[in-house]
Amino acid sequence: MKVALIHSVAGANSFAPIRRPRAARANEFATTAILLLVVVALAGCASSDGPSGSSMTISECMDPASADSRDIRRNLAAIRGAPLCYRRQEVREGSFRWVFHILEHRKAPDGPFWVLPHDNEDTAFDVAVQGVVTYGGGLLAVDSSGRRSFLGQDPNRNFSTSLSESRLCRHQRQPAPGYTAAVLDHYKDRRGPYLALHNNHDGWQGNGGSGTISLYRETAVLRGFPSARAEGQLRDEDNLVFLAGLRALSSDPAARRRVSDLNAAGLNVVYKQVDARNFDCSLSDYIARHQLGDYYNLEAQYDHRQAQQEMLDRLMRTLGIKPLRQAAASPFLGG
Ligand SMILES: [Zn+2]
Repeated sequence: MKVALIHSVAGANSFAPIRRPRAARANEFATTAILLLVVVALAGCASSDGPSGSSMTISECMDPASADSRDIRRNLAAIRGAPLCYRRQEVREGSFRWVFHILEHRKAPDGPFWVLPHDNEDTAFDVAVQGVVTYGGGLLAVDSSGRRSFLGQDPNRNFSTSLSESRLCRHQRQPAPGYTAAVLDHYKDRRGPYLALHNNHDGWQGNGGSGTISLYRETAVLRGFPSARAEGQLRDEDNLVFLAGLRALSSDPAARRRVSDLNAAGLNVVYKQVDARNFDCSLSDYIARHQLGDYYNLEAQYDHRQAQQEMLDRLMRTLGIKPLRQAAASPFLGG
C-alpha cells in the first residue's frame, strides 16, 4: 500500500506551484490511506507480495541556494536565470529515506522530463539542467551524497512493484513500489517519452564494476548500432542512446524505425531486449517490461559534456521538440 503524505515545506511563493491538483488530490486520499494501513496492520499483513508501506513528501518551489546539493549549487546561475522551480521530494520506504531534487521550468513545465538516477554523474546533471533551460520540462535527480549507490542500493536497480518482481533482480535489496511510483508519477499528464541521462567510463571491462556500457559490447540481449553519420566525439563507443523493448528488433518495426532515425541523426544506439531472465530493475527495463511508453537514455562518457549536450539537442530534433526560444533573427537580414 502506498500512503501519500504531501505537505508544503516552503513559504509563500509568488509563482503558481506546479501540479497542485495532483498534490491536493493525494492529500485528500492520505487520511483514507492511513486508515487502510492501520486496518492492514491490525490484520497482521499476511501477504508480503506487494508494497509494504511508504510515504512521500514534496515541497513547493524553494530557493535553490537552500538545496543541500553540490549539483544544484554548481548550476545555481543557470537555475536562477531560466528561472527554474526547485523542489525537494522525499520518499520513505522500508529502511530507505530517498531524497530527490526536482527542477522544473516555471514557464514551460510540461516539456521533456529527465531522470538522473546516479548522483556521481555530474556531466549528465549539468547537461540535463541546460536541457530544461533550453527546452522546458524538468528533471528528477536522486541524491545519494555524490555516490552511485545509496545505503548499498543502486538507485537504477530499484524499480519494481512487487516482491515477485524484485526477486528477478540480483541488485535490488527489497521491492520499491513507493520509490517507483514517486519517480514515474512525474510523467503523469506529460506528453512525450521517458528520458534518462547517464555517464559511463571509457570502454568496458566485461561484467561487473564500472565501464559496462559500450557500443561494442554485444551480448545475447544487447545489440549495438553505430551511426555511419556520427562525427567527432559522437563516434565514441561510450556515447550512445540506450533503448529497451520486449521484442526482438526483427519483429518490431516501430523500434527499428527509432533506431534508424537516431542513427540518421548521427547517434549511436544500443538496444536491449528485456525478458524475465535479464530484467534488472533499472528504469529502462521497468518501462519496457510494463510497456509504459518510449524510453531514451542518453549515455555519454564522463566529462564528454559537449558531446552529451549535442546528443540531447539531436534527440530533441529527432523527436520534434523545439527550443523554447529560437535565436532571434538579425534585424539587418531579410525583409
Ligand atoms: Zn548512471
